This record gives sequence, structure tokens and C-alpha cells, in this order.
Amino acid sequence: MPVVGDGYSPIDDRAATSVLRHAIDKGINYLDTAPTYHDGTSEGFIGRALQDGYREKVSIATKMSRKVVDCREDCRLLIHEQLGRLRTDHIDLYLLHNVTKDSWRFFEDVGALDLIERARDRGEIGMVGFSSHEERDFFMELVDSHDWDFCQIQFNYADRGIQAGAEGMSYAASKGLEVVVMEPLKGGMLSRDDLPYMEAFAGSDHDWSPAEWSLRWIWDHPEVSVVLSGMNAHAQVDENCRVADESGPGTLGDDELRILDRAKEALDRSCNIPCTACGYCLPCPQGVQIPRMFTLFNNHVLSTGHSWGGNMYNFSTAQDEKAVNCISCGECEERCPQDIKISELMPMVHRELSSD
Ligand code: SF4
Ligand code: SF4
Repeated sequence: MPVVGDGYSPIDDRAATSVLRHAIDKGINYLDTAPTYHDGTSEGFIGRALQDGYREKVSIATKMSRKVVDCREDCRLLIHEQLGRLRTDHIDLYLLHNVTKDSWRFFEDVGALDLIERARDRGEIGMVGFSSHEERDFFMELVDSHDWDFCQIQFNYADRGIQAGAEGMSYAASKGLEVVVMEPLKGGMLSRDDLPYMEAFAGSDHDWSPAEWSLRWIWDHPEVSVVLSGMNAHAQVDENCRVADESGPGTLGDDELRILDRAKEALDRSCNIPCTACGYCLPCPQGVQIPRMFTLFNNHVLSTGHSWGGNMYNFSTAQDEKAVNCISCGECEERCPQDIKISELMPMVHRELSSD
């Protein structure tokens, strides 16, 4: 949403309402929010902006975020508060937010899903799902752990091999879950026109922007039901709507897919730490998720302004998986085919990414 100033809040109500209503008028019918977005002001804004008949035209997705609940009673109250902030009597889609191994334990301990299912029985909630940035194996466990309607995952051509990845996505779809894609532009990074992938795109006849290449790649996957993209200007809404209209499963040919493969390779080569995320270094006896640490760091280095990598490290990574737990035992280095000095890099990775 457009904001006043350089931070995440306050939302510029007038500009944001204009963009939001323009999007709905263009046919966008899925709004994704959370109690933590825009420093806690996103849900209230959505509630205000959907007055004057707009509420009925969209589905609202919001979430139970671990950051705002500490016990079962908090979880119960949160749903009630969210209905009030959103000025509605039902939330169409409700997610456990950013499920990590830590937060999953918490949600299980307090019976969060039981509360959500009770709210669904009362008609306050429609579909139930979860969002997660966890690796594929744990993601698949999550898929199998409840009778979910949908899941929300990070997916784009550059990140196809990390987190749930293409394999996790197909698994979820095979189990009947709708798939909602987040980070289609990797926090905006894949819309930049100054990164090494531009060379790959220059070899094409299409005059697609980097963002369009990425969005088309995602829509090309039949498993994808929804693509979430933050938009803060009418022009972005128009571009996203046009691309969605023109895209769909099977709309990219072999030539275009090869160009996107080359774009990914160019991006991978440009990164500071030459980690290929092969995973041979795992398991680390201390539990450090080594490839994930390097993926976040490389992303952080390429960021200008908002650091997606830093955000993921601080808010979506279990404490015991972080670089800070490295004790420099060196076990992983013997297994790394890229000869990366992992133990030497971990303190720097933590220093750069941590907000502590
Ligand atoms: S050097 Fe660090 S990251 Fe590597 S195995 Fe040992 S503790 Fe884990
Ligand atoms: S073995 Fe080396 S290249 Fe492979 S994931 Fe680990 S650090 Fe990265």
C-alpha cells in the first residue's frame, strides 16, 4: 500500500484507497492482509477502504500471526478483533501466518486450529490455510497435518528450488490444496532493470518488463490459483491485470522457459556466496540451515532499500536454524562441493542479516 514517508506506515489512506478500489474495479477479487502488516494498520485500512459496497466484491484473507498471540485466549480474541477491524461479519480465508517449526509447536500447543474451526462453524471464517517459508520436507508435513483448504508459499523463477519449491507446490496441489503464491517478484527485486538477468531477457523478441517475465512464469503453472503482488500505483495494477489476463498454464514456450532459466543462472552467478543450495553440507550438528542462510544473505546483498533476506531471517526463520548457532566445527565444509568456507562466513551472515 502507498505509505506516507519511507517506512511501512502510516498508510496513505487516500492514495491507498484509490489504488485498492481501482484494483477491484479492474476485477481483482482477493485481498491479502495480516495483523502485522504496515505496523499493525493494514486490516483497519482494508476495513475502511471496503466501505461503499466494495466489501461484497472481494474475498479477504487474513492471518493468525505468532507475533501477536501468546496464549489460546489471545488467539480467540484476535479473530474477534480482526472481524471488527475489517468491518465484516466473516473472513473469507484465514491462515496460520508464516508457520515455522517453532510457531507450529505453539499453534499446536494452544489449539489454534480448534479455535479457527469453531469460528468456521459459526460462519465467521470460510477457507482455512497456512502460509510458510519453511523447507520442502517440513512444508509437506504441514500439508499432511490438517484438512487445509489452501496454502500460501513463496514461488518465483529465481526461488523455484528453495523453501517448498516446485515439488512442494505440486505436492500440495495433489492433496487438493489451492496454492496462493506470495513473493512473485521476490520482494520487488525481480522487477528491477539493473540486475544481471537483463542480459537473458535482452535475447528475446518480447518487450516484457522483468516483472512481467516473472509473473508470466508463475501463471504458467497449473497448480497456481492466486498470485499475490503488492501494488502501490494504478500503473502496477494495470500491468498486473494485463499480464494475468494474457497468461495461464502452457502459455510460455520452450524459448521463453530457456530465457527464464538463463535469467535465474545469471542471478545465481551474481550472488556473493556461490552456494547452489545443493544441501550436501546438511545436516549441521547445530541445526544451522546453511543453504537457507546463504540464500537470504545473497538476496540481502542484491537488495536496495527493503531487504527481503533480512526480513526472512528475522521473522521467518526458527531461532535454532540461524547462522548465529554455528560453532565452527567445520564438518559441513568437508562436504561442500563449492569449497565455501562456511564456518568463516556464518558470523558475517548473522551480523548482516540480524536486526538484534
Ligand atoms: S561449521 Fe557451523 S554450520 Fe558448519 S556444521 Fe559446524 S556448526 Fe554447522
Ligand atoms: S554444500 Fe556448499 S553449495 Fe551446497 S548447500 Fe551447502 S554451502 Fe551451499
